[in-house]
Amino acid sequence: MITKNLQNLQNQIFEVASRCGRQPEAIQLVAVSKKFPVSSILEASASGQLLFGENYIQEAQQKYLEIDKNIHLHFIGHLQTNKAKIAAKIFQMIQTVDSAKLAVKLNRHLDELDKKLDILIQVNVGRDSKKSGVLPEDAEELITTISALSNIRIKGLMTMPPWTSNPEDSRPFFQSLRELSESLQTKQLFYDNTSVELSMGMSHDFHVAIEEGSTFIRIGTAIFGQRLY
Ligand SMILES: *Cc1c(COP(=O)(O)O)cnc(C)c1O
Repeated sequence: MITKNLQNLQNQIFEVASRCGRQPEAIQLVAVSKKFPVSSILEASASGQLLFGENYIQEAQQKYLEIDKNIHLHFIGHLQTNKAKIAAKIFQMIQTVDSAKLAVKLNRHLDELDKKLDILIQVNVGRDSKKSGVLPEDAEELITTISALSNIRIKGLMTMPPWTSNPEDSRPFFQSLRELSESLQTKQLFYDNTSVELSMGMSHDFHVAIEEGSTFIRIGTAIFGQRLY
């Protein structure tokens, strides 16, 4: 089932990208494996999916021990500063940095590990009080502060709009994130200003996110099925 779902998704990514004049290779699929066992990751990786998203540190740490090193993990949950040490070690990218305090902690642990880490800045474009993320108007100052940290590379922005069942409702939030990234890119605030990453779009709204410029879509349910909590 997982293999078939992945194939189906790759076809959809190809179609949507082609329809809006984008290169399908510019869109990376992050398979969100939270709450699914390591066997699901292995099944997906056997069919070529090597990038996974995890939300919970302990769960990810356990999986990290059981998977090959060619499988990359991105952290997409809320990171507490007391978990920064493990996070710095096991993830290829942390997509949800939203405070200087967290970045400083990560940077210190990265020093010990002699590692450079890619991050995205999570932006709360929906101004949703229940969600993490820096407010759009505070993003520039945060990025400027974090840019001074030698082990951290700010590759772009990530967002999670307020949830609704209608994917079109997400479009204005995706547009806001893209516009923000373009203005920050003009000011040369990212690590690589020739290619800035935008992580946006989930199972129900990734089509819209691709149309609005997403480079990472984070898909759980459409690959692995319903999560049990
Ligand atoms: C769980 C999660 C996803 C995946 O959501 P689906 O609707 O299952 O595709 C994507 N992004 C974040 C931040 C998540 O927490």
